[in-house]
Amino acid sequence: MTTATPPLQDRFGRQVDYLRLSVTDRCDFRCVYCMAEDMTFLPRRDILSLEQLYDIGAAFVQLGVTKIRLTGGEPLVRRNVLSLVERLASLDGLEQLNMTSNGAQLDRYAEPLYRAGLTGINISLDSLREDRFKELTRVGELSKVLAGIDAAKAAGFERIKLNAVIMNGRNDDEILDLVDFARDRNVDISFIEEMPLGHISEHDRALSFCSSDEIHRRIHARYPLTASAETSGGPSRYYRMADSASRVGLISPHSHNFCHLCNRVRLTVEGRLLLCLGNEYSVDLKSVLENQPEQLQQRIIDAMDIKPERHHFDLNDEPQIVRFMNTTGG
Ligand code: SAM
Ligand code: SF4
Repeated sequence: MTTATPPLQDRFGRQVDYLRLSVTDRCDFRCVYCMAEDMTFLPRRDILSLEQLYDIGAAFVQLGVTKIRLTGGEPLVRRNVLSLVERLASLDGLEQLNMTSNGAQLDRYAEPLYRAGLTGINISLDSLREDRFKELTRVGELSKVLAGIDAAKAAGFERIKLNAVIMNGRNDDEILDLVDFARDRNVDISFIEEMPLGHISEHDRALSFCSSDEIHRRIHARYPLTASAETSGGPSRYYRMADSASRVGLISPHSHNFCHLCNRVRLTVEGRLLLCLGNEYSVDLKSVLENQPEQLQQRIIDAMDIKPERHHFDLNDEPQIVRFMNTTGG
């Protein structure tokens, strides 16, 4: 089905043209802001097969979605994820097929991903110090991620973006080093305010909160930032530096609410279509696929009616959302 007006519009007039597809809840890292140290992952029987992930992606593209991001968990720990990339990449109407990865396995995967049709990649990098990197990811090795970033560059990806979650007292002293690293490698970098998803034990999110305004202030003092109207179709607000092609993005779920511009929905690997990162409104598409596959597109269209107007994150309260980011699909 092709329609002139994309049918995915919510009650607030927002067009949904972007799907974040979580391909696994598993991960080879245990980042302190994302997961508990001791995690129980979903049993395999409860997760969508690659075929089902493809079917849902294809249904969204037929309904006007032009951008899909594969995420998780760590998408590169899902077996045969390359075959999914290849099939999704060949969908008519899909303009961007991107991935968010922790980068640990990119030295092996960057080139095959590029060849399979992936158009862009975001790589998480919260520290450039080996010991601190291990502390923040609990198990990760910085050298592997740096090799992954180099491999992504060598593979030919045009736009590579680094993502850093900044926490006061944990890595806020590395903001400028991270900007320098991005400038050096000629890649973009976004700084993210930590969101209260799931209960974590290692730090108090309210105390470690570092606002985008503070990040902007510190970068601007060394590299004057000019606001840019560019958008990647995601939540980053972009800034340019006069002497570099690298862009600085700020993702500010707390300090600059971007819900009015929201153009996206998320699918968990259990097949739950989440209409908002910060609310529990969802539709079980796995059961639709298994019991009434002919209804899939209509159920997606109907789901737009329960997309909430905005999230209500509050760092001073207990998290309202008990699911961790790895099950949500970042
Ligand atoms: N494993 C991949 C990675 O780390 O890039 C993809 C999934 S991860 C959940 C996606 C993004 O969410 C990462 O950039 C990560 O830093 C971010 N993230 C995880 N938990 C978060 C939280 N509580 N608040 C803000 N960002 C978070
Ligand atoms: Fe894994 Fe990404 Fe979560 Fe870190 S942020 S634990 S790499 S899913």
